[in-house]
Amino acid sequence: MTYVIQPAAIPTVPVHGGGQFPVRRIYCVGRNYVEHAQEMGHSGREPPFFFLKPADAALPVPEGETGTLEYPPLTSNLHHEVELVAALGRGGRDIAVERALEHVFGYAVGIDLTRRDLQAAAKKAGAPWDTAKGFDHSAPVSAIVPVDALGEHPARGPIWLEVNGARKQSGDLAQMIWDVPHQIEFLSGLFELRAGDLIFTGTPAGVSAIKKGDRLKGHVDGVGDLDVTVV
Ligand code: MN
Repeated sequence: MTYVIQPAAIPTVPVHGGGQFPVRRIYCVGRNYVEHAQEMGHSGREPPFFFLKPADAALPVPEGETGTLEYPPLTSNLHHEVELVAALGRGGRDIAVERALEHVFGYAVGIDLTRRDLQAAAKKAGAPWDTAKGFDHSAPVSAIVPVDALGEHPARGPIWLEVNGARKQSGDLAQMIWDVPHQIEFLSGLFELRAGDLIFTGTPAGVSAIKKGDRLKGHVDGVGDLDVTVV
């Protein structure tokens, strides 16, 4: 008797200019913009902390298309968090901050979807965040734009999100408490990073609840747009 179990395909995200980026892990940094940390009840100056989403939580949205997000079960308070996403083309451990950006292949726009009600319950109970953060399709992400095509690593410029055309979140990449090089330095001390890793780099203030029928547009200047409809 031989068991044959078909593994699921490796999740991929389209690359601007052609090709697919295979997703290995999805790391996310928490409370990385001061005003968002404050709206979540914190001072905003803590050391960075990280959580993960499964690789197949990625919901890739090709350029020019609108992604479809099924409203997830067992929540009545689903929040959007628009984020710059760094996609690693090289890995390593204990990466020095000065060399960190050499490991970034490109950037995308992502939404770190959060079951805020389950997260609040988990915080209260001292329980893990996985069901609040790591559910299916919890990481919509736009096409990855290679650094070569961007010309530089985005470190400043507007990041925003609109729901049904109304601006909800608005910030600037320069407001990150821990910038991308420092996030890579921290993460690579905790984990061996590899090509295929995505890093969601935190969200500016203005997170709010979304519902079925809503149309989301996330934007990072110079990187692109991410359009998603909730069904
Ligand atoms: Mn987030």
